[in-house]
Amino acid sequence: MQGFIISITPQKNESIILQVLTPRKIKKLYRFYGARHSIIQLGKKVDFEIEYQASFLPKMRNITPLNFSFERDLERLYIWQHFIQLLYKHCIDVEEVEEFYYKMLEFGAYKMELQNPIRVVLEMYISLLNFEGRLPDFKECFLCSGDLGDEITLARAFLPAHSSCIDSANPSFLRRDIAKLFTTLSSVHLDDCEVAKLYKILELGI
Ligand SMILES: [Zn+2]
Repeated sequence: MQGFIISITPQKNESIILQVLTPRKIKKLYRFYGARHSIIQLGKKVDFEIEYQASFLPKMRNITPLNFSFERDLERLYIWQHFIQLLYKHCIDVEEVEEFYYKMLEFGAYKMELQNPIRVVLEMYISLLNFEGRLPDFKECFLCSGDLGDEITLARAFLPAHSSCIDSANPSFLRRDIAKLFTTLSSVHLDDCEVAKLYKILELGI
């Protein structure tokens, strides 16, 4: 079985409880930690087996890391792990999942090798909002319900608003750029500076 480690919680006695995102389920598993198991790292894709125990959580065993070359680049690794933390919070207390989430991470990890890492994360997030039917339209400002002009700002979860309704210090965007991002699910028309501004909003929570 294969999955991405999306949470690691240390327990007493050098053991850990892991949450692993597999294609259909988020599995909660137990593992004795110990120094030899350094392959267990947040965001890591692993192959593993499960040993069911009568009295406690199932045990994760025979773990093999499935490495991506981007993991050797610490900045990329940090950005990847940060997104995994946000994703875990988003999926907390969920057990059954659609295959979309696993495939999103597989495709994202593949793109991480070469592309700007925050662009990769941004596009994963837009695809997630689209999958969950949460991509906002531009009918109105979500705070005052007034019409939006050509320039907008975005709140957490990319809800569009007037800058004056949130905070005039919030980054502003051209409405047509954001509309294109939401319809094409691609950031190719945005420069790295715009992508960095969007990433800051993404970091508020997905
Ligand atoms: Zn408003």
